[in-house]
Amino acid sequence: MTLLLPSLNHLPPPGSGIDSFTCRPSLNGKYSLKHTIEALASPTPPAPWYQLVWNSLSIPRHWVILWLAVLNKLPTLDSNSMAYKHIPNHCTLCLSSGESLNHIFFSCSFTAPIWSYLQNACSFYTRSQWIDFIFWASRHWSSKSIANAINKLALSTSIYHIWAERNSRIFKDISSSQNSILFKITTSIRERLLPLSFKDGVAAQRVRHV
Ligand SMILES: [Zn+2]
Repeated sequence: MTLLLPSLNHLPPPGSGIDSFTCRPSLNGKYSLKHTIEALASPTPPAPWYQLVWNSLSIPRHWVILWLAVLNKLPTLDSNSMAYKHIPNHCTLCLSSGESLNHIFFSCSFTAPIWSYLQNACSFYTRSQWIDFIFWASRHWSSKSIANAINKLALSTSIYHIWAERNSRIFKDISSSQNSILFKITTSIRERLLPLSFKDGVAAQRVRHV
C-alpha cells in the first residue's frame, strides 16, 4: 500500500479527461474477434503423437481406434470397465495371458505373425511396450514422406482389425483366423494405396510388398 499511494497521488482527478475503451488483445487497442480468439486459444503445442495418429491416408474409423489406443483408452479386460465386470481377464485371441494393451498389440502369440508380416513389408519394428513403440514411431515417422504415411496407414489399419477381431470374439462369439485378419488388413491398405501414384521408389516398393 505504501508503494501504491505515491502513484495514486499522480493520477488525474475523475472527470479531467475523456474515458476511452481499449481492447487488450488487439495490437492497436481496437476490438478484433481474431485477436480475441487468438488470446483465448491455448498456446499448448500438439502432443508428440499428433502426426502419428492424424494421417491423410488412414480411414477415419481406423485412426479413431489408434487414437484411443495411444491415449490408453481402449477398454481392455485389465481395465476397471464396468462392462467387463463378469468377464474373466484372459486374452480372447491367444486364450492365455491376461488381456492388456501391451499384450494384444505386441506380446500376443495370435497377433505376432500379423505384426511380423507387416514389419517385413513396411520395414519397422515393434517394441515389447506399446507406449515405447508409440514414442519411437512418433519420433521416426514425423516427416511427411510417403513411406512414413504408409507405415502409419499399416499401423492404424492393423490396430483397427485386431481390435475388431477381439470385440467380435467377446461380443459376437465369432472368430477369424490370422490369415483372414491379415487379408483384411492388406486388402484395406492396398485399397487406400492403389489409386495413388508414387514417385518415391521406397514407397512404391512397399506398396508392392504389402
Ligand atoms: Zn493373446
